[in-house]
Amino acid sequence: MKIETKCIQEGYKPKNGEPRVLPIYQSTTFKYDSSEFMGKLFDLEENGYFYTRLANPTVGCVEEKIASLEGGVGAMMTSSGQAATMFAVMTIAGAGDHIVCSSSVYGGTFNLFDVTLRRFGIDVTFVNPDDDYETISKAFKDNTKALFGETIANPALTVLDIEKFAKIAHDHKVPLIVDNTFATPVLCNPFKFGVDIITHSTSKYMDGHAVSLGGVVIDSGNFDWAASGKFPEFTTPDESYHGIVYSEHFGNAAFIAKARVQLMRDLGSTPSPQNAFLLNLGLETLHLRMPRHSENAKKIAEFLENDDRVAWVNYPGLETSKYKPLVDKYLPNGASGVVSFGVKGGREAATKFLDSLKLAAIVTHVADARTCALHPASTTHRQMTDEQLVECGISADLVRLSVGIENVDDIIADIDNALGK
Ligand SMILES: *Cc1c(COP(=O)(O)O)cnc(C)c1O
Repeated sequence: MKIETKCIQEGYKPKNGEPRVLPIYQSTTFKYDSSEFMGKLFDLEENGYFYTRLANPTVGCVEEKIASLEGGVGAMMTSSGQAATMFAVMTIAGAGDHIVCSSSVYGGTFNLFDVTLRRFGIDVTFVNPDDDYETISKAFKDNTKALFGETIANPALTVLDIEKFAKIAHDHKVPLIVDNTFATPVLCNPFKFGVDIITHSTSKYMDGHAVSLGGVVIDSGNFDWAASGKFPEFTTPDESYHGIVYSEHFGNAAFIAKARVQLMRDLGSTPSPQNAFLLNLGLETLHLRMPRHSENAKKIAEFLENDDRVAWVNYPGLETSKYKPLVDKYLPNGASGVVSFGVKGGREAATKFLDSLKLAAIVTHVADARTCALHPASTTHRQMTDEQLVECGISADLVRLSVGIENVDDIIADIDNALGK
């Protein structure tokens, strides 16, 4: 099946007489005819549901759809994108381990790694993703367990050279984890370029309507945990699970199985069946929305680039972007819907611009059907001076525009009017 068909048809497949639409199994609990059968479930000898913290039929169908969209062997949904990032790393690394991460990743990811995972004993080195193979390789140590990057970074809009990152990770015998939130499987298939594990905040384009938080981790099934020799947690018995050896019992689905039966069991960042149902509705139209987001964003970036009230424009899909060659290779169908730009006149002019928008709303969120805008210098980063802002890659005049799927002429008219003010 092609991706458009998968968005609609994968996951839930009703049998004769069953509901056509994925039902919401709002049940924590499942009933069995015998204790013996239930015992086999707990020994992972039978397939079935035992408790919604670990698996649920509604959630399971949506996981199957997402695994198919990304071309993986399995997926696990989480309660938020933050939880997905945490699970992806903690399934692989523990206290005493180290990871290497692109420095331009999402702020929430940066904090999770730089503050909280350090407190848990997992060390991190951040690298400039645009640096070459040799420079990035220098960050690796004997205890390095993973390399992490983001397809299109939020909000820096850097585009990851995925094949370069995959080669660096694999030459060091560790998996590459990529956050594919901004691209979605409609615009980029990271597994095709050597990525081993994908994460998403489904709260963004996948949901698409800003109605439910969620995350997902997807396993390509391609990383050989035993051959690497660096992952005893995969290749020796887990005493907390009857001495199971993940790489033997689950074969090439060892990662996603371990994430679920070990970490989701213990940490419990479980999505609700209701939210999985809503996410599934969003996924059905993802293939229609992503091309429109990208098309609108490109037209708006071109409009801004040719307007002398605008100081600069950053959109990876622009012909003039330094990431254009990477976009051609990894994102041939569009560079997604987020554009950032500077309003001439600095902090004050940018604030005035935001306040003058009528159609675009001021929100912290990005990546849903409605156009929205954020001025970090006067909101999320308001405690920083202009100099401090420059240090973290955000100038005082920066406006982040999340371009929606309205008619692009109406969005441009709104921007034009606000620039005039
Ligand atoms: C929003 C976001 C996250 C965090 O997801 P939540 O669902 O908000 O927890 C992670 N990565 C990226 C790229 C994001 O945009």
